[in-house]
Amino acid sequence: MKESKITTLVIASHNRGKIKEIAELLIPFGLKIIASPDLDLIEPLETEKTFVGNAILKAKVAAEASGLPAISDDSGLEVTSLQGRPGVFSARWAGPKKDFYLAMKKINNKLKVADRRAGRKVPRTARFVCALAVVWPNGSTMSFKGTIDGDLCWPPRGDNGFGYDPIFMPKDRPETFGELEPSLKHAISHRADAFEKLKTSLFDQ
Ligand code: IMP
Repeated sequence: MKESKITTLVIASHNRGKIKEIAELLIPFGLKIIASPDLDLIEPLETEKTFVGNAILKAKVAAEASGLPAISDDSGLEVTSLQGRPGVFSARWAGPKKDFYLAMKKINNKLKVADRRAGRKVPRTARFVCALAVVWPNGSTMSFKGTIDGDLCWPPRGDNGFGYDPIFMPKDRPETFGELEPSLKHAISHRADAFEKLKTSLFDQ
């Protein structure tokens, strides 16, 4: 279903890194952008089991509270040798202080335990997943999923980006997302992949 033309869009997030990346992806469409903190919107608990479910949940809460269409992103890192963890729990692995060095270290420690159990070095492959959802105040919903595959490194490298970026090297590149120029990350990331699909449906581009 094609929805009415969007002129104002709420970014349903309290994560500064995400708000910045989504706002940058939306620049070409000339929309008025508002983010959850500007409207004092609450941050709902992510109670769904999938990225798409959580993205819809967050956009729905923001659309209902603001009376405006809202976009939200639920994303995370799936580590192959940890059976896809931290997955939808990626933000929660950083604890209440949102300490992503701690979360990255937790991944590295669990991989070392997996190495010991397997008696060999287990694969360091991982993928970032991004689900984008747009929900209108009348409940209409669209969702899109994007991914990027890569390998994990230790120790973390680079100060760009956010979250797990310093340990993730996209496939066939020597740099981590933390070392890549933001424009390069934006061109190839899981969010860019999901956004390409969203653009086609939402803006006919
Ligand atoms: P949530 O979608 O709010 O549950 O948070 C997802 C978490 O996944 C973020 O807080 C980050 O830790 C991680 N994450 C998602 N996308 C990225 C990314 O592009 N780079 C690094 N970490 C990411």
